Amino acid sequence: MEDLLTLLPPSLPVPERQRVERAYTFAQMKHRGQLRNSGEPYFLHVVEVAKNCARLDMDTDTVAAALLHDTLEDTEATEEELLEQFGETVLFLVKGVTKLGKLKYQGRERHVESLRKFFLAMAEDIRVLIIKLADRLHNVQTLEHVRPEKQRRIALETIDVHAALAGRLGMEKLKGELEDQAFPYAYPAEYQKTKAIMDSIVPEAKQTVQHAHAVIEKTLADFSVPYRSVHSRIKYTYSTYRKLEKYLWNAEHVYDIVALRVIAETVADCYQILGLIHMLWKPIPKRIKDYIALPKPNGYQSLHTSVLTEHGVVEVQIRTEDMHREAEMGIASHFVYKEASRDNSSQPTSKKWRWLDELKELHEVVRDPSAFLQQLQLDFFKDRIFVFSPKGDVIDLPEGASPIDFAYAIHSDVGHSTSAARINGKMGSLGDTLHNGDIIEIVTNKNAKPSNKWVEYAKTNSARRKIRAHISEHGGMFDKLFLKK
Ligand code: MN
Repeated sequence: MEDLLTLLPPSLPVPERQRVERAYTFAQMKHRGQLRNSGEPYFLHVVEVAKNCARLDMDTDTVAAALLHDTLEDTEATEEELLEQFGETVLFLVKGVTKLGKLKYQGRERHVESLRKFFLAMAEDIRVLIIKLADRLHNVQTLEHVRPEKQRRIALETIDVHAALAGRLGMEKLKGELEDQAFPYAYPAEYQKTKAIMDSIVPEAKQTVQHAHAVIEKTLADFSVPYRSVHSRIKYTYSTYRKLEKYLWNAEHVYDIVALRVIAETVADCYQILGLIHMLWKPIPKRIKDYIALPKPNGYQSLHTSVLTEHGVVEVQIRTEDMHREAEMGIASHFVYKEASRDNSSQPTSKKWRWLDELKELHEVVRDPSAFLQQLQLDFFKDRIFVFSPKGDVIDLPEGASPIDFAYAIHSDVGHSTSAARINGKMGSLGDTLHNGDIIEIVTNKNAKPSNKWVEYAKTNSARRKIRAHISEHGGMFDKLFLKK
């Protein structure tokens, strides 16, 4: 129990801590005698899941629900018991996780369905999803004990569904861990190849980076620039594989397998540190990236540069603590118990992550985590819907959006040539109202053209703007032609 308790914030009120302890004892009692495939007591699994949640700084309802997440499905425990002993929220979370647990993965094409259920669960309470991801992480960490024919299926699902979702929520660390655990089982040959390349590069790269590390720390001290920490990180194996694949397995193009990270106090310090590093070593042209002024589409912020040191090329990433936290924990960083630092300089501006920005603002206004969650469900998801392409791409749209909005959200060219839409497999009208979880297939035709009617169908400003622009550019003439006929 101590392992878990030490992961909880020291400032946690005693009754809250005791509730976690009670959940621990309850789960231990209920799972007594049950064993996992590894031969270990089943109870150890739920403790690991709770630890994963605590590491994400989740609140006590979530940590308690993680301890209890398999009690409804696998033990004699009843809903009444959970309600009486742990309250409504914990019961709700456990039920949510249990519902998701019943989903069975039936091959790649089916993962749209899983994703859809996940998003619907998330819309109800995002903590359900976080417990489920923490659960999956422990399950892939122990995949060696699973029957070989099941291993690959679980591994593929983990990459396609769970890691993809973690990525969408900006939880890069969890995404990286899920992918790296699943990778050897999902794509064994590619894993071996990637591993061999990394083994041949990493030791030397580490030395190069260590040398730069020492020089940077000394320089920061000499110039009295305050900073939180300097550390090196090794790129996740699966993410290295994806990059190697992109560069046709030419490892020379992957500069960042080992990189240095400087965590600065303020945004101004980030730029000063970048300046000092460029004073020490020549930067490689075109490899200086200012993701602070221009964040990546997923909201990621950092300064990146690659410099040519005496010992070789080193990539350095410079960011504030808040940016670092956001980059690693994503949405989970909004549920923090610990006192957040008061540097408000990070400003994700990307459209794709607008909803995360909105979450962040909401978090600023509502400091109490449970009130924040309530607001989240009331205000935030209320007017957004999540819909899917047949391939499983998730598009978030305002409530009341139509297939036209969806088509333009995919690409302007798709929008302009839309001729029909299939909604959940049935032909629909372009003006139909979409609902949360719908799967939409846009049928395109190169002779199709936007019409004024479409402006009415569209609920998003971006679709309307594109339709109007297209009509004023080409559309008028076609409309006239049709009228003449
Ligand atoms: Mn479980």
